[in-house]
Amino acid sequence: MVTCARCGTTADELPLTWSSSAERGGTVYHCQICSRENLRSIEGRLDEQWWA
Ligand SMILES: [Zn+2]
Repeated sequence: MVTCARCGTTADELPLTWSSSAERGGTVYHCQICSRENLRSIEGRLDEQWWA
């Protein structure tokens, strides 16, 4: 059983479209939608740093 750390969606087994990342205290998973949103926010932060 895996749970999306962002929206709380659950799946019996880790779908291929989900992403996992090692965080302090364990591995967190993000569903396909949240992975995309997460990536976008990371890119957004990089843009901010770039232009700062
Ligand atoms: Zn999600």
